[in-house]
Amino acid sequence: MNIRIGNGYDIHKLGTGRRLILGGVDIPHEVGLIGHSDADVLTHAIMDAMLGALSLGDIGHYFPPDDAKWAGADSLVLLRQVNELVRSRGWQIGNIDSVIVAERPKLKPHITTMRDRLCATLELKPDCVGIKATTNEKLGPVGREEGIAAYAVALLVSN
Ligand code: MG
Repeated sequence: MNIRIGNGYDIHKLGTGRRLILGGVDIPHEVGLIGHSDADVLTHAIMDAMLGALSLGDIGHYFPPDDAKWAGADSLVLLRQVNELVRSRGWQIGNIDSVIVAERPKLKPHITTMRDRLCATLELKPDCVGIKATTNEKLGPVGREEGIAAYAVALLVSN
């Protein structure tokens, strides 16, 4: 069995008039993440981890932010495409682990739904996707609620 590991990071600014979508889940909050797509930082970090494991570049290469085609894009649709790319190279996901860093809102009630949505998109069992949420202890831009960040690692396997 061959294995590969990749890591991904993303951060988006928070602003009014935007939805807060994390892991494909629409989370009620007075502000949302600003971006060209739906700005789902968790899904973006996961995609970069998957691409990184195979040295396939980053999501900006496949879904350029200046391409009108991806305006308002559902990041789960992009995730499915990245997974197809990984599979086409003969690899599949062993597991993913991730951390969302957000001062507010409380994400705990939404973690299981995020996991289920990501697992459904990637056709993975629930125990193959880890999602944790932490605050930044009020430190820095995330602590001041100027943005939300996410980190992910992906292990890919091939036979
Ligand atoms: Mg992003």
